[in-house]
Amino acid sequence: MSPFADRFDRVRARMVELDVEVLCLSVGADLPWLCGYEAMPLERLTMLVVPVDGSATLVVPGLEAPRVTERPELFALRPWTETEDPVAIVADLVGPAVSVAVGDRTWARFVLDLQAALPSSQFVRSSSVTEALRAVKDDHEIAALAAAAVAADQVATQLQQGDVVLVGRTEADISADLGRRLVDEGHQRVNFAIVAAGANAASPHHELGARVVGPDEVVLCDFGATMVDDNGVGYCSDITRCVWTGTPPSEVAEVYGVLAAAQQAAFDAVAPGVAASVVDRAARDVISAAGFGDRFVHRTGHGIGVEEHEEPYVVDGNDAPLVVGNAFSIEPGIYLPGRYGFRLEDIVVAVEGGGRRLNEVDRSLAVR
Ligand code: ZN
Ligand code: ZN
Ligand code: ZN
Repeated sequence: MSPFADRFDRVRARMVELDVEVLCLSVGADLPWLCGYEAMPLERLTMLVVPVDGSATLVVPGLEAPRVTERPELFALRPWTETEDPVAIVADLVGPAVSVAVGDRTWARFVLDLQAALPSSQFVRSSSVTEALRAVKDDHEIAALAAAAVAADQVATQLQQGDVVLVGRTEADISADLGRRLVDEGHQRVNFAIVAAGANAASPHHELGARVVGPDEVVLCDFGATMVDDNGVGYCSDITRCVWTGTPPSEVAEVYGVLAAAQQAAFDAVAPGVAASVVDRAARDVISAAGFGDRFVHRTGHGIGVEEHEEPYVVDGNDAPLVVGNAFSIEPGIYLPGRYGFRLEDIVVAVEGGGRRLNEVDRSLAVR
């Protein structure tokens, strides 16, 4: 059973709630999440037009139409020829609608043209409709996230066991190696592979480069990729593990121990009904108690699904309670500028009564 009919139902129910009359989706993650088709990022417009009542239409460049898996029960296909005006076709389908939600990532050129073609319509972002729905994963999505996590775990295991050579290689070279392994393990698209050695690891989003890994230092590896599920929708993996090349000094092992305890505390705090901010606080309290509060410089985590970063964000101020089906990272870090840094990241799903980790690979500081 494809999950898309259910998603269309939930989208339309949400549109009713929000008084949105038409939803228009182009490039970005909303479209594949809803109907299994990902728009090509082209100067030729692809747009799914979903009226709150009435049938949906996928307006697509004629030469892209063969790529579309047709789902006539969900949407009609309207291929347009090179001499037609796709904005006029979409404007026609939208008709006199007053409230139109348009995909957050739709190119400005198309939004501006649509606004000009529909002067009496009000435009809102599609995320107002889709964000809360996408944050709650159905069984198809949890299975897809779990499969991506298993593949990422394989690569993390290869990293911890020494299959990925570190000492003597550049960060960039190791990153490319991790990327190839993510694909070998079944991902289709590498999203990022941060490799930060030594003091570079004190910068959470270090731009990797020509730095060569030496002995007796940390190598922080944070990598993620997209795996396409059997419905044709891609889901993301995201994991961080650290390796120490040599025997870590006891002070280093202690700092890592604080981080691992913080990550565990955050995981233990996960349960439906618990605010995301409480999960953030659980990690932060452990790190602060050890005196590193000001060295944990980012939120504890982010939701994950068809996008690497989406709702719910595990951050102070997000007091929305978690619900069963939320999927997010728990990734506290401790960063000591000029010296080293650590982060430890797993993907977790909120389940009945608690949390379920999708990443199961060893969480200690690997020593090589
Ligand atoms: Zn990040
Ligand atoms: Zn990550
Ligand atoms: Zn992450």
